[in-house]
Amino acid sequence: MNWLTRIKKIGENIKFNIQKKFPSKKEQANSPWISCCSGPILKSEIFNDEQLNTCPKCQKHYPFNPTERFNHFYGKNNYQIINTPSPPDDMLNFPGYKEKLERGRKLTGQHCAVVVAKGTVEGLDIISFAIDSRFNGGSINSAAGEAIVAAYQRAIDDQATVVGWCEGGGQAMQESALSLHFMVKTVLAANTFKKNSGMPLINIYTNKCYGGITASFAGPSIADITLAEPSLVGFAGQAIVKNQTRENLPEGFQSSETLLDKGMCDGVYHRKEINKKIIGIIKLLLNKNSEVNSLKNEQTSEISIQTRVAS
Ligand SMILES: [Zn+2]
Repeated sequence: MNWLTRIKKIGENIKFNIQKKFPSKKEQANSPWISCCSGPILKSEIFNDEQLNTCPKCQKHYPFNPTERFNHFYGKNNYQIINTPSPPDDMLNFPGYKEKLERGRKLTGQHCAVVVAKGTVEGLDIISFAIDSRFNGGSINSAAGEAIVAAYQRAIDDQATVVGWCEGGGQAMQESALSLHFMVKTVLAANTFKKNSGMPLINIYTNKCYGGITASFAGPSIADITLAEPSLVGFAGQAIVKNQTRENLPEGFQSSETLLDKGMCDGVYHRKEINKKIIGIIKLLLNKNSEVNSLKNEQTSEISIQTRVAS
């Protein structure tokens, strides 16, 4: 045995011991336990209808896929999924991309990472899109970009409000400029919606939202109101920023609470209460709430009384 074979054998031993010590992804997925704030916790304590995939101890928000999201937002099966365009796959023949798309489709049952739905909540017609991070990291490729554009178009046609649940890693690098151009197209679609419909647009950051998504249709200046669930939101990820700046990142860096503090979003709410907040805001913007109307009437009468006294 020469020195090279010996080193190779030592390396294999180290690899084997590491693998033995840490469970594989498959083992983690099959285990009834998950590791959170205070160590192991039963998945059933987090992933249930009451906790809505949030930790009861530290309130960490775990992924909520589009079906779970729409069931919670509209009510179970109280919505209709809208068909969106299917542009050709893998137009640049990027190595391994076809397989990645197939894996995403098999896992989610969707043709891209974005799902669009229409439903009515408390008498309000709402078009909603949600991004599924299980599908290629929630990246926006041509199909996903077209789905977002289709959501805005449908909302213009139906005079409906748009609620966008925004998460994911950014544009699909496998589609290069084809996916990048959807940064422009989705923003144009959002602006066209705002200009032509006069209906509210509300975006919500959900854990985690990065890259071209934050830099385009989910940008803090795009929607009328931008809310967040407790989440991480940024452009480049924390590891990249740390490596580039070679500095320790400040506490709360890229957290939704910091965004709120810096004026980059309008409110951070727990998943259990965010739907109520969204509906309240839509009613306020549409002036449909009777309480808001009566409050406004009281204020108006006060103003007119003061005016009469002054004159
Ligand atoms: Zn926890």
